[in-house]
Amino acid sequence: MADPVVLASGLHKRYGAKLALNGVSLCLYPGQFVALLGPNGAGKSTLVQVLSGLFVAERGELSLLGFDMRTQAAQALRGLGVVFQQASLDLDLSVQANLLFHTDLHGLPRTLARARIQAGLLQHGLQAQAALPVRALSGGNRRKVELIRAMLHRPRFLLMDEATVGLDPASRHDLMRSVEALARTGEVAVLWATHLVDEVAHADRLLVLHQGALAFDGVPADFVAQSGQATLEQAFLQQCQGATAI
Ligand code: ADP
Repeated sequence: MADPVVLASGLHKRYGAKLALNGVSLCLYPGQFVALLGPNGAGKSTLVQVLSGLFVAERGELSLLGFDMRTQAAQALRGLGVVFQQASLDLDLSVQANLLFHTDLHGLPRTLARARIQAGLLQHGLQAQAALPVRALSGGNRRKVELIRAMLHRPRFLLMDEATVGLDPASRHDLMRSVEALARTGEVAVLWATHLVDEVAHADRLLVLHQGALAFDGVPADFVAQSGQATLEQAFLQQCQGATAI
């Protein structure tokens, strides 16, 4: 089996008295499309922030591509691409300029950068939009530009943090298919964080976060079977009700 892209064990993170992550361990491999599902407050954002190096866990170990996030953060973060929940493109700059800004930050030579940008735009059907200000694009296309940007430095770990917030159903579907296709290349491990059950049904693997701890790690069908419910939505509702009752 290939080496894991992400290896985390016993991650703990608290905000004052609130324990937001309570011993999360996970291992992600290239080619996997992994969904991270949890109700609001389960700790998804906190986990995303720890995995993307924005916060350091108080306890536990984390490495990306074999590089320790504490002692080799620069090398570890070179392997990471992120699309955050909050849009982060400069609306007044062109699509091309936004993407070049990212490749410059990563120190990519301009010739290589332009070739990758063109390939990314082509792959997502956005060549005609390259010179337009981002403001002129639809919400769905803006997210695609963020996805192209996240992949320009060729990361091996793609973190999608509730990336479909605010998109209409067709754009949501389109973005998910694009990200699934990236995972299918076998080069990238994708972690898709969401609170929307319909986004996780096709994932290779499902992680369910419950009060800061992983309550399930396996294929979505097994989550349903274990719950004794008929659908993923019912299984997740049961999980959430359990969380409220505790
Ligand atoms: P999710 O993304 O699943 O909604 P979060 O990671 O945002 O969950 O939050 C996990 C828990 O930590 C929640 O109970 C939330 O209220 C709490 N929390 C998150 N951020 C902070 C913060 N900055 N200060 C205090 N508590 C926080």
